[in-house]
Amino acid sequence: MKQYTQQQILDAFHGATRSELKKVTFPLEFDDVDFSRLEYYGWRDRKMPRRAYIAMEHGDGLVALILNRADAKPSRRAMCAWCRDVELTEEAVMYTAKRGGAQGRRGDTLGTLVCSGFNCSKHARKLPPAYHKGTDLDAIRAEQLAGLRHRVSSFIAEVLSTEDQTAAD
Ligand SMILES: [Zn+2]
Repeated sequence: MKQYTQQQILDAFHGATRSELKKVTFPLEFDDVDFSRLEYYGWRDRKMPRRAYIAMEHGDGLVALILNRADAKPSRRAMCAWCRDVELTEEAVMYTAKRGGAQGRRGDTLGTLVCSGFNCSKHARKLPPAYHKGTDLDAIRAEQLAGLRHRVSSFIAEVLSTEDQTAAD
């Protein structure tokens, strides 16, 4: 990703009310975030424990969404649907986003299992624990990152797919 300011991210939210936007709290270490190593930026709101956010370059601009952590806990240790980190180094939890448009206003959400701390980009940069000499590690990593980008992008696309046509810019 390119480097973004908090204001640029706030301007990129879809489906958020004015009061929801006012309550968005960024991490204290926001200035240290290296966006160049992120496929998407996700963070938890330190004042609202169940509230989280993601921002990603999508289409021709940045898109940010509000996520809510669901009550339901996966019965077994679950794999993150985005980075698919098989080592399960980070707990994956269910987050939901409000669907765009009228569906979302009726309370319709879309859920996904995601690393609770949104470190997917870091996990996707990991190399396989065992590999043969001559394995193209750069290619493996590039493939993992492309997969991550694709899966987060698909989630965002689905959330936005029901947006009102008039509200789409
Ligand atoms: Zn993940």
